[in-house]
Parts: sequence; structure tokens; C-alpha cells
Amino acid sequence: MAIETFLPVAEPDLSELEERYVMEAVRSGWVSSMGPFIDRFEAAFAKFCGTKHAVSVSNGTTALHVTLAAAEIGPGDEVIVPDLTFVATAAAVKHAGADPVLVDIDPETYCIDPELVERAISSKTKAIIPVHLFGYPADMKALGDIAKKHDLFLLEDAAEAHGAMSNGKTVGGIGHAGTFSFYGNKLLTTGEGGVVTTNDDALAARIRFLKDHAMDKSRRYYHPAVGFNYRMTNLQAALGVAQLERFESMQARKAQILSWYRQAFASLSIALNPISTNVDDKSVCWLVAGVLPEGTTNEQRDALATELKKNNVDTRPFFVPMHALPPYEGCRSILNDTPSSTQIGARGLCFPSSNRLSESVVNAIGEIVSTLT
Ligand SMILES: *Cc1c(COP(=O)(O)O)cnc(C)c1O
Repeated sequence: MAIETFLPVAEPDLSELEERYVMEAVRSGWVSSMGPFIDRFEAAFAKFCGTKHAVSVSNGTTALHVTLAAAEIGPGDEVIVPDLTFVATAAAVKHAGADPVLVDIDPETYCIDPELVERAISSKTKAIIPVHLFGYPADMKALGDIAKKHDLFLLEDAAEAHGAMSNGKTVGGIGHAGTFSFYGNKLLTTGEGGVVTTNDDALAARIRFLKDHAMDKSRRYYHPAVGFNYRMTNLQAALGVAQLERFESMQARKAQILSWYRQAFASLSIALNPISTNVDDKSVCWLVAGVLPEGTTNEQRDALATELKKNNVDTRPFFVPMHALPPYEGCRSILNDTPSSTQIGARGLCFPSSNRLSESVVNAIGEIVSTLT
């Protein structure tokens, strides 16, 4: 079956409910960063993650930055990040004035390898930022033990993993803090937006203070620190409230799509999203993420992507490892001899993952891929 209409890798899943809440926000006049949807969204998101606090911010990158700033991580400090992630994880560390230390991934899970994290720790290390890549939960048990042993701040970058669980606990509520993104291609969107989740009262208060120009609560226009404007708007929060109300069904749909892909790709030598062997883990599917067989080159992967595009099937490559990006190539790193981040990164391709896909379209994608590989 030929595919007639172009299939993007990701699309927001929006309904009449989002439209209604956004209209409600517009009609109320509360379109900026005050308004009832902000409070509703923060309360609902905290509940969703099982945390005491959820502080809304302008995006997932500012969520990371303001959290590092609130934790007083800055110049002279080292922060451990995975070598394979979206660049924002490492960029936020740089924005804070600290030095990212790049640690290789476990090639089975694509998440940071806890054994290598332990080896990366120095006297300057202040924090670890595991990333739940493509919706797969990082090994929070091992990372929590390491953080505790070395007294490190553990910040989960959960931008790609809304609703995932590690050892029975929802991500974002396991480390000292968690951050999420609500960009248009994420599992839950507010257009642009982000949130910080935490159980720490003082940290939450500090983030609220810093994200809003660091203005003293009891003395207007008195700013005892240098703050940011990292606020979310009520319009965005209206979208977020609707998305959270629909989240369970959206997530079930995504899981259904991944299972159709597993069937359609069953005879192909492309490994789809890893499956945890721990029954207390729950991965969510952000994007349908495939890894081509060992030995496939970067060029072959890109050639496949070009051919797929001619057939109306959009794809996107996995991230380029941080150590291969100019601003981060000088960073201290603990990588395998042949870096797993390079290996997996070069062979990885994400497939159309929109909730709009049907089983027959997924089967058609499988047929096209099989004729090209
Ligand atoms: C999307 C993403 C971010 C950044 O989120 P923005 O809202 O785009 O700033 C951070 N980390 C990871 C792992 C992401 O995928």
C-alpha cells in the first residue's frame, strides 16, 4: 500500500477540549502568566507525578537551568550528563556556568550507564542529570544510590518520558527534582512550556522566586538576586490542563501504535524501543525509535531516511552525541572505547509516531521499510 499523505515523525494530539479551555482563557482576559489555569495545571501535574510541587516554567531547557541555579550549581562545579541526549541537557549546565561531564550510555537502554557515572565522579561533581531517553526510564535505583553515597543533586530530565516509571515510582518524582518539556512534539504539549517537579519545599520556593525576576515576595520591586523571566502563560496552561485530562488515553494510543510497529517490523532487523526486564519499570513511547543493525553506517542510515521521505514517511535521526558537538567536545568524558553513544546514535532512526496513525498505515510503513533494507 502506497502512503499518499506525508507522515510527520510527531504531531500534537489536540481535541475540542484544548480548544475549549484555550478559548476560556482568552475570554477571561488572563492570557499572560497569571490566571486560574496555571494553578490548575501545576496542581494536576504534581498529582500526576506524585510530587508535592510542580512549578510551571517557559520550557524544558529553562526548567533545567532554573533548577540548577536554585540548587546553587555554578562555576567550578561539574554536572554529569549522558553523552546521548538532546543538547538542552548539556546546554543548561553551561548556562548555569558549570561544566558538563559526558558519560556514555548503556547500549541496551540508551540511558546513562550508572557504572560509568560512578567512575566519572570527581571532587568537583555536584549533580547528575539522567535522561529518560525516548520514554525509557533510566536506572534510578542505581543512580539514587550513587547520588546518596556521594551527596550529589539528582535531577531527572524527564522531557521525553511523561508518565514513565522506574521501580514503581513515576519519573520526575524520584530524584531531588525532575524537569519536563511541553514542546509541540513531546508526549504532552502546551505549545512551548515546561515544569519542575520536586518534594523539596525550599527548592520549589527558590525556583518560584528565580523564575519570576527574583522579586522579594513581601517587598515589590526589591530583587535580592539575579532572576529570570521563565514563566508559563495561562494560555499555555489551559492547553496543558486539557492535555493532562486526556493523557491516559493519549498514552494508551501511543502504546498501541508501538505494538503495531513491533508486529509490522517483526521480520526486520531493526531494534525498536527497548523493553525493560524489571516488572516495576514502565516505559512510555515518546517516539518509535529504531536502531538499524550493527555495521550500518551513518550514511546508510541517512540514505534510508531519504528514500523513506520519497515515500511520504518522515523520520529523524537519533541525537548527535554531545562529545561530537563543538561547544562540548572539550568536556571531560567517560566513554566506552568505542562509544555506545556514537554507535547507537549513528544507527538510530525515529519513525512516524503521531497518535493519528492507524494499524494499516503502520503496516504500510513496515512494508516500505522492508523493501528498502
Ligand atoms: C525536549 C527536550 C528538552 C528541552 O525542552 P524544550 O522545551 O524544547 O526546551 C530537554 N531535554 C530533553 C531530553 C528533551 O528531549
